[in-house]
Amino acid sequence: MENKLEPCPFCGGAPELDSQQAYRALVDGKVGTRFVIYCTGCNADMGFCREDVESCNHEGAEQEIITTWNTRPAPSEADVKREALLAELDAQLDALGNEIIALREDLDVRADEERDRVVGWLSRFVADAPWSDEVIAASMFAQSIAANEHRSEP
Ligand SMILES: [Zn+2]
Repeated sequence: MENKLEPCPFCGGAPELDSQQAYRALVDGKVGTRFVIYCTGCNADMGFCREDVESCNHEGAEQEIITTWNTRPAPSEADVKREALLAELDAQLDALGNEIIALREDLDVRADEERDRVVGWLSRFVADAPWSDEVIAASMFAQSIAANEHRSEP
């Protein structure tokens, strides 16, 4: 016997099964055992008095209310199509996301390679150039002028 309750169809909340003494819906003034399933989230409920259903014993009534609570309408054709389109869209977005990640990784690799290439070129240029002592002294002089100009700025 399957006793697992589906979530509330209105709010997705957790349902609980209970029984209580209640006035019977079909017979005025008589008390019976009402089986009820109610949502602990939004308080939606359904129930019936066992005595109102001739063929129900105690376990049968419990199973009947569980089956009724768990019964959902079949999805419409539009719902089925929408779900399929959403699943396809999800798959395409996943694929696009993976493509973007791969492109970004490739760009990072290329940026590293380009930086290494420029640094290598500059290193070779400095190492290979026939810098004279005068050029180095002029360069240091120019740097000191630049540093003093920078210092004298307001
Ligand atoms: Zn609910």
